[in-house]
Amino acid sequence: MILADYHLHTTYCDGKNTPREMIEAAIEKGFAALGFSCHSYTGFDPSYCIAREDTARYLEELNSLREEYRGRIRIFIGAEVDAYADTPTEAFDYLIGSAHYVRTAGGYFDVDASPEKTLDVIRTEFHGDADAYAEAYFEALATVGRHKPAFIGHFDLLMKFSERTDLIDPTSARYRMAWQRAADTLLSLGIPFEINTGAISRGWRTAPYPAREILTYLHKKGARFLLSGDAHSVEGIGYAFEEALRYAEDCGITRFENGFIQFAQKQQ
Ligand SMILES: [Zn+2]
Ligand SMILES: [Zn+2]
Repeated sequence: MILADYHLHTTYCDGKNTPREMIEAAIEKGFAALGFSCHSYTGFDPSYCIAREDTARYLEELNSLREEYRGRIRIFIGAEVDAYADTPTEAFDYLIGSAHYVRTAGGYFDVDASPEKTLDVIRTEFHGDADAYAEAYFEALATVGRHKPAFIGHFDLLMKFSERTDLIDPTSARYRMAWQRAADTLLSLGIPFEINTGAISRGWRTAPYPAREILTYLHKKGARFLLSGDAHSVEGIGYAFEEALRYAEDCGITRFENGFIQFAQKQQ
């Protein structure tokens, strides 16, 4: 497998390191390609994404770094776009399509902030019905195909805290139906899914997204996969890829799309 990671964040959004620091660290780790995927501007919650006025500077800096590092590492300039984001994304080489929010009459609520916030949202916005919360999340995720992403980010992000809490029951029939509906919609579009180790590097989980049951289902339905670190600092690049490979193999997956052919159309 080509050592490549197409999901990472920098100081342009909620990451800790600059693009140059990420590139240097990736070269050090022996990576052949790196894809930058800053959170594209999301008007209803500007707290974690790139500022609208910084997008041109992001593209400019990364284009210049791409030239500077040509021959040492391949660089792709992408964005992670939220299911509810609506700013233009044509300027990027590729997109990751992700859901980070549930939307209710009360507004948008992020699903990966903290166990306390998740509990609070389930109680106050969904009358304590965790399955309804999961249904809202997967309904949002199912719409992300409209952005024409290169792959789907952290399919079951809402389970970030599931190893420490039992806020959501993954064995409930409604939960299963909710994720299967989203999976079937996205499978019908032929979009690959990532196996994402981001919550491992941040200490919340020991297993990547998505859960084994989901991964096995996607695999049986013919999905394609790639590994991503969802790095928010240099340490997160390619984080726990060895473990993620074994995890995927346990689910029957032996082929990964970490090569860079599919992103190459805009670069040369
Ligand atoms: Zn994300
Ligand atoms: Zn991300």
